[in-house]
Amino acid sequence: MPRRTKIVATIGPASASPEQLAALANAGMDGARLNLSHGTHEEHRERARAVRATEAEIGRPLALIADLQGPKLRIGELEGPVTLARGEDVVVAGGESSSDGELPVSPAVISEVLQPGHEVLIDDGLVRLRVETIEQGRARCAVLTGGVVTSHKGVNLPGVPIPIPSITRKDMDDLELALELGVDFIALSFVRSAADVRDLRALIEQAGSHARVIAKIEKSEAVDALDAILDETDSVMVARGDLGVEIGVALVPLLQKRIIFAALERGKPVITATQMLETMVHQPEPTRAEASDVANAVLDGTSALMLSGETAIGEYPVESVAYMDRLARAVEPSLGYRHQIPEASEEPTVGQAMSNAACDVAEVLQASALLVPTYTGRTASVVARLRPRRPILGLTHHDYALRQMALEWGVTPLLIPESADVENLWQVSLAAARASGLVAEGDRVVITAGTAVNLPGTTDMIKVAIA
Ligand code: PEP
Repeated sequence: MPRRTKIVATIGPASASPEQLAALANAGMDGARLNLSHGTHEEHRERARAVRATEAEIGRPLALIADLQGPKLRIGELEGPVTLARGEDVVVAGGESSSDGELPVSPAVISEVLQPGHEVLIDDGLVRLRVETIEQGRARCAVLTGGVVTSHKGVNLPGVPIPIPSITRKDMDDLELALELGVDFIALSFVRSAADVRDLRALIEQAGSHARVIAKIEKSEAVDALDAILDETDSVMVARGDLGVEIGVALVPLLQKRIIFAALERGKPVITATQMLETMVHQPEPTRAEASDVANAVLDGTSALMLSGETAIGEYPVESVAYMDRLARAVEPSLGYRHQIPEASEEPTVGQAMSNAACDVAEVLQASALLVPTYTGRTASVVARLRPRRPILGLTHHDYALRQMALEWGVTPLLIPESADVENLWQVSLAAARASGLVAEGDRVVITAGTAVNLPGTTDMIKVAIA
């Protein structure tokens, strides 16, 4: 049985070479994230090329994700590191650079929103300040938790609405690059509302791209607007790093469960991210707490698990992917099938009702696999939502759908030639299933698809077949 929960690795200096990428893929990586908050366009171009070359080498699709920085506040240019001690005062001023020991924070608009009592968190909250007074747009702050502040570190102002666009000028440049690279997913950081997702999708569609949107849930506004965001987006990420800074670490575990469940109910992929195997940045073994964290995310029903620093800058990138693979495989047999007969009052689509029935038939008959020929990959999402125990084979002739299904829980994406009629679709699907090695000749399988081939959203048929 293939692993059901997918693994995304963030690509960085520790993992960008063709050899390292091949090793990550062989260890079980299903998707590669380019974090556009760091690195140059040339580096990302090179990494994207290397991911596509790896995919060709291993003969399996890899989802390529471009992660836009979004409206992130950052420390500007400092002449050198600034050491802050608890109990001291420091002045925070909006801008790209400053002198006299002041901390510049970009974009400059923050000086218009800071008020006495606001907290200013630097470097994922490692340094904490509280605004005491405001004078001419400069905020004098008390240092609550000291530490060393260096240029470009992230800054969070929990609960403070910041009047900057969700897609910044940098994001527009980065989006242009991502679309040129033909990425499969575009993640947007610091999403605040469903409108942010709509704006990004409009730009993607204008460019004629099929890239799907990942809304990163990391602000309290996004948690409040979760239902509306989920209605609009293709998928979400539980971005636990900034979520912990913005709303407090104690609330992250329950919010993770809530976000995963809400995404699962809608059949939209959800990625759980950040510090999953953090100690593996420097150690070859995870802690027991990290092992439990990965296992719990799998049990919560996450579609994918993400590695950040572990693979981008860590000393053990391949071991981190291999450990995640082992941990997911150890816990997956304990996952339950989400058997559901939709009520007519819920107004299920024909596709949803057929997918539910197909999963039931496959379970009852102990079929070797569920075969889902799909134009866009959406029917595979609808089937995956039920978390059936049978392997799901997502069959498509579109490269973009193939790569997007690489992140779909439980789905093995397989390429098939385009079919002119439904009989041919059954034949090419069965042939691809046999060639994958997941189904043997003579095995019983269940196929669900549309009889109007090549028309998205027309799933209307279940067939029990012998491979
Ligand atoms: C996060 O904050 O958890 C996250 C995934 O975002 P990034 O890695 O881009 O900071």
